[in-house]
Amino acid sequence: MTLFDSPSFSNHEGVHAFYDEKTGLKAIAAVHSTARGPAVGGTRMWNYATAAEALEDVLRLSRGMSYKNAVADLEMGGGKSVIIGDSRTQKTPELFQAFGRAINSLGGIYYAAEDVGVSVEDIAEARKETEFVVGLSGGKEGSGDPSPVTAEGVFRSTLTVARRLWKQDDLTGLTVAVQGIGHVGGYLADKLHKAGARLVMTDVNTALLEEVAARNNAEIVAPDAIYDVKADIYAPCALGATLNPETLDRLSARAIVGAANNQLATPEIGRILFERGVLYAPDYVVNGGGIINVASEMAARNSGGAYDPAWVEGKLARLMETLEEVLERSNSEKRPTHEVADAIAEARIQAAADEKARARAA
Ligand code: NAD
Repeated sequence: MTLFDSPSFSNHEGVHAFYDEKTGLKAIAAVHSTARGPAVGGTRMWNYATAAEALEDVLRLSRGMSYKNAVADLEMGGGKSVIIGDSRTQKTPELFQAFGRAINSLGGIYYAAEDVGVSVEDIAEARKETEFVVGLSGGKEGSGDPSPVTAEGVFRSTLTVARRLWKQDDLTGLTVAVQGIGHVGGYLADKLHKAGARLVMTDVNTALLEEVAARNNAEIVAPDAIYDVKADIYAPCALGATLNPETLDRLSARAIVGAANNQLATPEIGRILFERGVLYAPDYVVNGGGIINVASEMAARNSGGAYDPAWVEGKLARLMETLEEVLERSNSEKRPTHEVADAIAEARIQAAADEKARARAA
């Protein structure tokens, strides 16, 4: 199969491979769509077994960013980049400077940020060579750690779901099973507890788990046991693909609302959940707070202003309206929520592409 026939290629506008002999940089940047603005998406450093595997991953993630940015109503397209290598042993400042030069050569059609294996410090190294990176800390524009905003979005999504399913404005009497209490899950657990939820939680980091559980009066279970917890809501905040054929029959929750990316192992799982009457709040709608926070840095830079929490709040409120629309349409159109979310994102991308085409023709 050639690149252009691969299902993941999905009409990418551009795919760019970079090699730097001196630092050993091997990177791929994929630009799925610039219809809504410059493509923005994180940089993942991962020890891919082959370049083909890296290519497959970057294409899938980049398309996902087009959808996430559109659904969050940001004036940004979708893109992503990957650096092939072991983030624990192969990172050097020079590698990220070379990466910065590579991104710079794209002239601003793509902006990179942190992702798995890439830290704020790494992005700061790349920033020495290019302005086309975001997610920096410090400075008047810097948006810093996006996790608290992501957690706030997941929390509000949980309240939205509780209003629909249980007709209540807080979480009193509801049990939430939280998987992963790291950056996002930790903040989320505090908010859920404060809103009256009973929490059952797990993490592979037992010291952190004990600390977060103690302050939230939560029950602790072993990592694999989280799927068997009798909970009203399952909140995946650790890994992707935890909604899969193996876990599906073990989960008893009526709703799934969590921060993790790519929760559905396959789209088919989303359809099965829908048919079983489980409300799946689509991951990339629920967790869009983080990219909104990053976008605020771009907005500040473009306007010459400073990071603006009010701008972030406006976008987050709009995202929650979109979640309401997704749930409402899923109900009335009898379609799984993830399909409705995709349709909304695709319509927004298409509208922007049509607008651009009209402007070009005029
Ligand atoms: P994190 O690494 O800080 O937290 C993840 C936690 O999951 C860690 O505490 C880790 O020990 C735990 N974990 C790992 N494997 C586990 C397992 N098998 N069982 C239970 N726990 C396990 O990451 P984060 O920034 O909190 O992000 C959590 C998820 O949300 C990720 O999927 C991430 O892609 C997604 N996400 C994060 C943001 C953000 O703003 N940080 C934004 C959007 C999406």
